[in-house]
Amino acid sequence: MLLESVEYTRPRNLDEALRALASREGAAVLAGGQSLVNVLKNRVASVDLLVDVSRLDELRRIEVGADGGLEIGACVTYDELERSDDIRGAQPMLASAAGHIEDRQIRNRGTIGGNCCLSDPSNNLPPLLIALGATMNVQGPGGGRQVPAEDFFFGYFMPALEPGEILRSISIPPLADDAGVGYQALSVGHDSKAIVRAAAHVRGGDTIEDARVVLAVVGPRPVRHSAMEDLLNGAPASAETVERASEAIGDGDGLEPISDAHGSADYRRRVARVLARRAVYEAMMRGARS
Ligand SMILES: Cc1cc2nc3c(=O)[nH]c(=O)nc-3n(C[C@H](O)[C@H](O)[C@H](O)COP(=O)(O)OP(=O)(O)OC[C@H]3O[C@@H](n4cnc5c(N)ncnc54)[C@H](O)[C@@H]3O)c2cc1C
Repeated sequence: MLLESVEYTRPRNLDEALRALASREGAAVLAGGQSLVNVLKNRVASVDLLVDVSRLDELRRIEVGADGGLEIGACVTYDELERSDDIRGAQPMLASAAGHIEDRQIRNRGTIGGNCCLSDPSNNLPPLLIALGATMNVQGPGGGRQVPAEDFFFGYFMPALEPGEILRSISIPPLADDAGVGYQALSVGHDSKAIVRAAAHVRGGDTIEDARVVLAVVGPRPVRHSAMEDLLNGAPASAETVERASEAIGDGDGLEPISDAHGSADYRRRVARVLARRAVYEAMMRGARS
């Protein structure tokens, strides 16, 4: 289907973009357009004005702080994430996850901000950003605010953005020397729609510290599994610990997996347990190597 006629503007800076967004109730941010344009073509939603922020320099930068922390502009594309030496050096798992997003065209145009603001629970980046302890830097007509990544993904296609707000950038703290990150997914096809995702961060040598275990596609939003984290923190860094902690993923733990053509809710829950175990184990191994 062809795109219906829609007004389009390309502001020169973020302030102009915010003013354009506020000028019309039916205005929407356009980044890479990989999801939004499809939605409009399929008449699933309509907008009056597209505010194209994809070429704003201030949303396209990747900055590394003195401590190794990153600030990534919302309009940095997946391809740029995958190729950036700064990202590969500071957060290699993020570069790798971006490189596993399906097909070259999407990676050339799709942006880290669009991936987050779409808030599709099956998307690659949200669970990883939560595991990395990221913060979303949001700009609105009244100023800026910061939202922890774990509070940003509110539900199916519902980011925690107020009307008129734009995601400006994403800050990621540096990885500690003894920290590692793991990321696992089961997909319908290679690098395709995920059935379940699990991301993990752990720190520590013989004893596990600062465990973050995030599960996605098991409910409307990616979630940290605090019961599994509690069993990991302070326990010896061993395969037995990880195995035992993963048993916390089960009935009544708040996960809300759906049943569909790709798997029942029960199957997804069992896969979540296996992937969480693998992600934590991978994080431990990577932390031990660094
Ligand atoms: C064929 C196909 C395959 C795909 N495969 C994958 C995959 O394997 N993994 C994966 O994770 N995703 C996948 N996607 C989804 C895609 O990666 C993202 O949805 C898309 O790239 C979002 O980025 P974008 O820059 O194109 O956003 P757009 O489509 O421009 O915008 C998406 C939404 O976010 C809003 N938005 C965008 N940027 C901002 C901002 N800075 N501030 C506020 N709101 C904003 C827009 O208004 C819109 O509502 C796929 C999509 C398609 C069409």
